[in-house]
Amino acid sequence: MRKVWVSLAWRALVNVEALNMAESVGNYVKHRRAPLAFYDEASGCYVVKYVPVVSGESLAHAYQVWLAEEASNAGLSVCGLCRKGELVKHGARVVLQDEKLPTPGRGEVDKAAQLEELLIKNCVVEDVCGFLVPTDIPVKRTSLFYVGYMVPAHDSLRAAVMDPQFHVRHAPSLIGKGEEFPETGQALYYVEVASAVYTASAALDLTGIGRASTFGVRDVVGRDEKLKRAEAAVKSLYYLLVGMFGAKRTRFMPNYKLLSAVAAVSKGAPFNVNPGHSRSFVKETFERVGKFAELTGSSVEVFAYAREEGVEVPGEVKPAGSPEEFVKMVLESSKKALGEVLGSG
Ligand SMILES: [Zn+2]
Repeated sequence: MRKVWVSLAWRALVNVEALNMAESVGNYVKHRRAPLAFYDEASGCYVVKYVPVVSGESLAHAYQVWLAEEASNAGLSVCGLCRKGELVKHGARVVLQDEKLPTPGRGEVDKAAQLEELLIKNCVVEDVCGFLVPTDIPVKRTSLFYVGYMVPAHDSLRAAVMDPQFHVRHAPSLIGKGEEFPETGQALYYVEVASAVYTASAALDLTGIGRASTFGVRDVVGRDEKLKRAEAAVKSLYYLLVGMFGAKRTRFMPNYKLLSAVAAVSKGAPFNVNPGHSRSFVKETFERVGKFAELTGSSVEVFAYAREEGVEVPGEVKPAGSPEEFVKMVLESSKKALGEVLGSG
């Protein structure tokens, strides 16, 4: 069967964020940072710079929490732990015991296949985002949702910055009463915040939804259920796009502005859009579509949202007036493509 593949990349101006804190040294909490290699036009060679980033794990965590919410609201099955945002996904034997699920021993391949099927049926989050169950025969499922680090865009690296912000908790009435409040009655701390034009990318393999793949490839849920699960999976991308992910949001909610985005829905082979490292990413994505379709015998629809100067949207690309309209267009296109691939069922 041919694939229905959704791919998405976006650029966002994010100011004063503490979305992904990596460690604390004393009272100093550091923002996650990573080395980024890029071409430096001034020196004419590739160089490395350490920049603020938000990990793919952080984005995937948020995506799964939103998916649990969307799927539950649509009346689809989501397990209790995923609904609580505890994404253990049966990766601990104790959960199998608690839920009285089969625990395949050595050589019990049939039991392992049965467990894979049960987990896919019982939880949309585990169906879409994969799991690894450490039984004697490990039962694993590769995620159908792909995401990586959100990193500063190459064209805006000079605007990527981190800065420690000084904060104090002050409790005069507790002076001298405990180690946290010594004679000054103050607890000082620093939170490293970052500001940058970030870009991130994600992809979804919609055809793999509801299909077991480890001990044999076969559908374990019906056509309608697949379509509903796919709808919840695409809708959940919306929350990533508008910046609803990451840590420390109750006191360091970032100043987040979505600048531009491009998405493609391909039917046939998987097509990934260009990352948003430059403002020509929508145009560059579209320029590849024709040859890709020819090479792979696929059909591709491209959608764009642009609220950033210098982002060119070719006439053939469907423009959206808002992030909400953009996701709705992607949703309609992917539902149609998946419906066609699955046949009349
Ligand atoms: Zn679950």
